Amino acid sequence: MTRRYSFLSIMREALRNHRGWKPAWRKADLRDRYDVVVIGGGGHGLATAYYLAAEFGITNVCVIEKDWIGGGNTGRNTTIIRSNYLQPESMALYGLAHKLYENLTQELGFNVLFSGRGLVSLAQTRHELDQLTRIADANRHFGIDSWLIPPQEIRKHVPMLAEDSRSRYPILGALYQPRGGTARHDAVAWGYARGASQLGVDIVENCAVTHLVSEGDKVVGVATTKGTVLAGTVAVTAASASAEITASAGVRLPLRAQTLQALVSEPIKPVLDVVVMAGAVHGYVSQSDKGELVIGGGTDSQIDHSRRGAPPRIEESAAAMVELFPSFARLKMMRQWAGTVDMTSDRSPIIGPAGPANLWLNCGWGTGGFKAIPGSGYVFAASLANGRPHPIAAPFGIDRFQDGRVIDEDAAAAVAH
Ligand SMILES: Cc1cc2nc3c(=O)[nH]c(=O)nc-3n(C[C@H](O)[C@H](O)[C@H](O)COP(=O)(O)OP(=O)(O)OC[C@H]3O[C@@H](n4cnc5c(N)ncnc54)[C@H](O)[C@@H]3O)c2cc1C
Repeated sequence: MTRRYSFLSIMREALRNHRGWKPAWRKADLRDRYDVVVIGGGGHGLATAYYLAAEFGITNVCVIEKDWIGGGNTGRNTTIIRSNYLQPESMALYGLAHKLYENLTQELGFNVLFSGRGLVSLAQTRHELDQLTRIADANRHFGIDSWLIPPQEIRKHVPMLAEDSRSRYPILGALYQPRGGTARHDAVAWGYARGASQLGVDIVENCAVTHLVSEGDKVVGVATTKGTVLAGTVAVTAASASAEITASAGVRLPLRAQTLQALVSEPIKPVLDVVVMAGAVHGYVSQSDKGELVIGGGTDSQIDHSRRGAPPRIEESAAAMVELFPSFARLKMMRQWAGTVDMTSDRSPIIGPAGPANLWLNCGWGTGGFKAIPGSGYVFAASLANGRPHPIAAPFGIDRFQDGRVIDEDAAAAVAH
């Protein structure tokens, strides 16, 4: 189904100065009507469209993106993938996503550079160790491969860590998930876009949805900057903009927009072959295939829709890294950026019907939704195709905020992720 490039075709392009590459997905024009309109061409919207077509045979689908696909949080994140969450509902969702990630390159015929290199979440206070012990117990009970490791084993995985005598916080233990890791964020968006487009899905970029079109208590389409489109089902996957969009159909979402930053160092030789997260100093790091150290931390205290972020948070993240890895102090930081993330009060996403007929939600992924993209796309597509929430998606309905059935992942969300 998907096109694969052979070594010879890559060589041919190199010799003709890369002038023969075909666009990976069609530039589609908006049609008058679709079975499903997906608002937002981030990872969750594109994966939903792909699985609708690939798994459920629904191809009369359009993804409408206001800028360029993957230009939101999906293309701005630090790509950490893991499934060692605390609550059973989350382990089911992120566990499915993790498994799908492991085979995503083969599924899409597009290299998403998944690297299950191992993930170490440090405990540097007694409180953190208690928290991570609780998560490790929950993971073992649920069958997620994640467990506590002692300081001497941590230092085997991360020999560059500062000696306890040189740091504010000693290393007491860590939660270790050997299959945790990273993938290339743009490739995930591009791979799903290409796969969906090849199956007949229209991807329309540079087109913003301005409001939902309702008839009585049902949503029948969307108004966009390129005209109005009718839809059997409207799926909102627009991250922090979701609230503004659903407000036009009278639906209020319990989302708060927050700024989250990341930064990368100059490239260096391989020094770190696991992902390291550290809640006490509030930072995390992995090394990219290019050799850059990819660094992040907590959310900014103030929202900044320019997606630049405020200097104090950059300083805090850099200081956290230098505290953990004193030798990093000599590195130059090359780039810094931010995204606007959509936070819920329990740090879990919202997946399910919105209230008005035909309107569905997949948002609230906050600081940790990249790792969920394949699983979320699959269960959301199944929900849309069957007209009822998939069993893994069902607990994440918006009604949980009214019923008090929250899925509290504040502790397991750790340093933002
Ligand atoms: C700095 C940073 C680091 C992060 N690190 C990690 C990490 O390590 N691991 C992890 O799992 N997660 C991480 N995340 C979170 C992760 O990036 C997000 O949860 C995830 O990408 C959300 O995907 P999405 O498809 O829901 O949203 P997005 O990728 O933001 O997509 C939403 C799309 O909707 C479009 N849109 C908005 N309004 C409209 C409209 N009116 N009409 C049409 N389109 C519209 C936007 O342009 C955007 O492209 C991080 C985020 C940031 C910012």
